[in-house]
Amino acid sequence: MDFDQYVKLLLEANGQAFRSSSPWIFTDGMGFGDESVWWPSKLKVRPVPHEGLDLVSFRGDFGVKPLFAGFRVVSPVAGVVVGICPDFLAETVWIRSETGVKKVILLAHVDPAVTLGQRLGCGDPVGVISYPVTNVPLHLHLSVLVGALQSLPAMTWEDVHCTAQVKFISPLSGLHRDSQS
Ligand SMILES: [Zn+2]
Repeated sequence: MDFDQYVKLLLEANGQAFRSSSPWIFTDGMGFGDESVWWPSKLKVRPVPHEGLDLVSFRGDFGVKPLFAGFRVVSPVAGVVVGICPDFLAETVWIRSETGVKKVILLAHVDPAVTLGQRLGCGDPVGVISYPVTNVPLHLHLSVLVGALQSLPAMTWEDVHCTAQVKFISPLSGLHRDSQS
């Protein structure tokens, strides 16, 4: 499944019509590797370049619609839940892809409806977007991590940032990639 197929699946899981081939609105700060912050903040730059994509708002039936609390998040891959860790808004679910053993999908800012070790099919429910706890607008963060995952001490954001044997790749091209090469 590539990124476009995944966003179609996401919108359909939430009863939202798929009206555009590129329904998500991306502005500076939401993209992979971006250094700026897209929400109103005293922070001008991110502490680290953005590790993935932020899905914030999409083109729906009645114009641009922000992502809402309770928005259903589904898995873009068939795989196994190998981690659930806190993030600065809610929790992050780590799903190791079955087809690419070295690839893990991270879905962040979610209230998980899955447990560690659970097997998921493509499109299976993972959780919902959490109710707001800060003034950061609700959004789904999507990352694709590749490399020697066994070198991670634990599936946490702290460990992934200080482990040289793993790296993030762009979800736009990396979601359907089956190996590191
Ligand atoms: Zn993000």
